[in-house]
Amino acid sequence: MEQEKTVWDVLDGKQRDKAFEFADGYRQFLNRAKTERLAVEAIISQAKSRGFHSIEEVKDAKPGDKLYYSFGGKALCLAVLGKKPLDLGLRIIGSHLDSPRLDLKQRPLYEEAGLALGKTHYYGGIKKYQWTTVPLALHGVVITEAGDRVKVEIGENEADPVFTITDLLPHLAKEQMDKKIREAVKGEGLNILLGSIPLAGQEVKERVKANLLQALESRHGFTEEDLVSAELEAVPAGPARMVGLDRGLIGGYGQDDRACVYTSLMALLDMENPDFTALALFSDKEETGSDGATGMKSNLLEDFVAELIYLVSGSSDGIGVRRALRRSQALSADAAVAFDPNYPDVTDKQNTACLGKGVAIMKYSGIAGKYDTSDANAEFVGEVRSILNQAGVVWQTGEMGKVDQGGGGTIAQFMARYGMEVLDCGPALLSIHSPFELASVGDIFMTYLAYSAFFGSSS
Ligand code: MN
Ligand code: MN
Repeated sequence: MEQEKTVWDVLDGKQRDKAFEFADGYRQFLNRAKTERLAVEAIISQAKSRGFHSIEEVKDAKPGDKLYYSFGGKALCLAVLGKKPLDLGLRIIGSHLDSPRLDLKQRPLYEEAGLALGKTHYYGGIKKYQWTTVPLALHGVVITEAGDRVKVEIGENEADPVFTITDLLPHLAKEQMDKKIREAVKGEGLNILLGSIPLAGQEVKERVKANLLQALESRHGFTEEDLVSAELEAVPAGPARMVGLDRGLIGGYGQDDRACVYTSLMALLDMENPDFTALALFSDKEETGSDGATGMKSNLLEDFVAELIYLVSGSSDGIGVRRALRRSQALSADAAVAFDPNYPDVTDKQNTACLGKGVAIMKYSGIAGKYDTSDANAEFVGEVRSILNQAGVVWQTGEMGKVDQGGGGTIAQFMARYGMEVLDCGPALLSIHSPFELASVGDIFMTYLAYSAFFGSSS
């Protein structure tokens, strides 16, 4: 059975080199795309260099054309137009650009005991204790009163300072250690240390905060009030690394779901004249339920497909869009749960994915009794299985933990709304949602091969 094979048993010397080369590019992408906005920028710049144009730049389109549209700089669709008419359906791979992090509040700054701090509201499902005592970088935008957009990026270069959240020394942590992990670090306790030197020679209150504000104004050109109209995200600082003596793993922040973003992007950039239109969708807000204008519950996919149909045929008739979406086949590209030898009890060993055993297909995700999932049709699982086998892709099955253990959803259920076939498919990760997630070099490569085969499938 395919399940027993590892990627490393299948890749010969040359292919191994390719897999490691691919992992290098992936690591660079992770380092560059630390937030959804930065990911959109990185994707657009790569896509443009490979012949993609914004749909706003073109008046019409034909098979073979490469188009994209950015939704507010936070979500993105890209397509390579196929030979077949769009209303026969597309091949869609949908992933998400956002990852768990700490967002600065609208009025974040305060000073206490000679330290300037920033209040945060965490974004997505995190284990709060994991975010203390690690170096953090700040990324995002601040919109000034005059409407200028100031880009902030502090903490990634070695010459940059970083930020951090303090934790209690063990000597005084008796009470904290007796608490449940969930309560040991409070949400309102995730305050980021931003500065410690007071403003010199001035009679002001809160001199450290004043000094910080002066630095922000002189170096970045924004004021305290400007922070009200800002999106500043604290994320783990520094680059992704190779993990293990054999360098078989990649460790780094944001691999859920930028592992799928990068692999599906690379697969799409390689597509030339596919039979069916190949569409890569990069959504935002998945980690907070896919709500919002750039989340998968918005109309971004159907809007983009409607624009494509209009550019190709001049038709603005809604039935074409509905047919195109209903007849589409999609992979919901998201990180799968990997079996963790430190925590064997939360998974069903027979059905969970393992690092190094290839890309994972997951018929359903969901929570207790298959809530919040689309549950792919057996027929479509069969089709994908055969596409992967024909392409020599090493794959395995996965699920979101043991029955009744917990679980979680993906964007599959929101893609399924259109009636299209959709299956969850992505690499398994360890330490998901932590500041240092782990993926296998071999699985990442197999994911790329799987997505390429899916985009190129023609029946
Ligand atoms: Mn995810
Ligand atoms: Mn996630």
